[in-house]
Formats: sequence, C-alpha cells, structure tokens
Amino acid sequence: MSVVVELRSVTRSFPGPPEVVALRDAHLAVRAGDYVSIVGPSGSGKSTMLGILGLLDRPTVGACLVDGVDAATLDDDERAALRGRAIGFVFQAFHLLPARTVLDNVLLGMLYNGVPRGEREDRALASLDRVGMSHRVDALPTTLSGGERQRVAIARAIASAPRLLLADEPTGNLDERTSGEVMDLFERLRSDGLTLVVITHDRAVSDRADRTIRIADGRLAEVER
Ligand code: ADP
Ligand code: MG
Repeated sequence: MSVVVELRSVTRSFPGPPEVVALRDAHLAVRAGDYVSIVGPSGSGKSTMLGILGLLDRPTVGACLVDGVDAATLDDDERAALRGRAIGFVFQAFHLLPARTVLDNVLLGMLYNGVPRGEREDRALASLDRVGMSHRVDALPTTLSGGERQRVAIARAIASAPRLLLADEPTGNLDERTSGEVMDLFERLRSDGLTLVVITHDRAVSDRADRTIRIADGRLAEVER
C-alpha cells in the first residue's frame, strides 16, 4: 500500500538554553488506510511529531515526505497548499470560532485549502451530515456540548477531503460516552478510506487503532500486540 506520510531519521531540537531534543532519529511510515495511535507521557514529543507530520513544523535533521514528496523541497506556498489539500487537523480544545455558526466554522476551514468557492457550501453540509451535525448548522459553538463541538471540528477537518487526519488528544476534553462517539466516528471515516494518526492518553482510543507507537523522551517504538 502507498505511504501517505513518512519520517526519515527525524530529529527536532529546540535551541536553548537549555536545548531540548523533542524528537530523536524518528522513523515512521504511515500507509494509506492505516489507523495509528501515538502514546507517551506528557512532554515526550508527541505534538512535536504531529506538527512535523502535518507540515506545520520542520525537522532539524532528517526528512518528512508527504505522498513521497520531501517537504523540504517545497517553498512555503507549496507546503501550505499540500497541507491544505492533503491533511486535516483535530485538536483537544476544538478551536472553533465562538461567534460564527457551525456552518461558518466549516466554511472558513475551507478558505485556504483549494476547494473552489462554489463547492464549499455543499461540501460543508455533506461533511456536517457525515458527523451527524446537520441539525445544528445554524447553532453557535457555545450552545453545543463538548462532543458536538468536536464533531463540528472533525467536519471542518474532513470537508476538503484530506487523505490524512491528524488528531492531538481529540478526546482529552470529553467524557467517556462522548469519547466513544468520537472514536466510532473515526472508525467510520477510516472505513471510508481516511488515514488516521491520533495522539491519545486514552487506552480505549489506542486499543482501536491498528498500530500503536509509543514515544518516550523523543524516541519512537512500535508497541507489539
Ligand atoms: P507532548 O505532546 O508529548 O506532551 P511536545 O511535543 O509538546 O510533547 O514537547 C516535547 C518537548 O519539546 C518538551 O520538552 C517541550 O517542552 C519541548 N517543546 C515543544 N515545543 C517547543 C517549542 N516551540 N520551543 C521549545 N521547546 C518546545
Ligand atoms: Mg502534546
């Protein structure tokens, strides 16, 4: 199967003092259709790794390849275009704009990712339908529950039909039942062909992935099961 995103000998250090080496010689290949969970203690390098996989950050040493293209060969505009087209992001804190409706939030998420203007509303509505939020398109995020907000954030992330969804602690602000709904949704998206990389502290989430990678002090290790 084709490799969607790959890290080759990636080290990411933040200059100090004290210098922090957040990721050390990391190798990872995520194949199309994979569901990978990333676990590890706080400060171990999980978010740093997701930022590099998502082309939000660059390795200090080594390479990140998306669809076989070395991100280092792209200029800023090309990186942003590839990110917008290929990658969706979901975060623990949802990051919805509180004064904009659910529909606007999803529409605004499509501004910079190459979706033609005339297609945006249909895509947004279809995406909200996929996450079960069609009935709340005109609602403001502040009137939604945490689980509903996260479903809207997921709709925003998938509206441009990315191949890869990156999620950083997506159930970290949710109770057990709502987390279960988000996990069910991830499994549905995955069976529709999306590739998923999910950082989580939640065993219930990592147990549902095909592969689990543990990070400790910036070093990656595949968890055998
Ligand atoms: P995790 O997501 O596993 O909690 P992070 O990837 O956020 O860990 O952080 C890994 C290490 O890198 C930590 O020691 C953190 O303080 C450091 N770090 C992360 N981002 C930066 C930054 N922008 N500048 C300096 N240090 C950073
Ligand atoms: Mg983190």
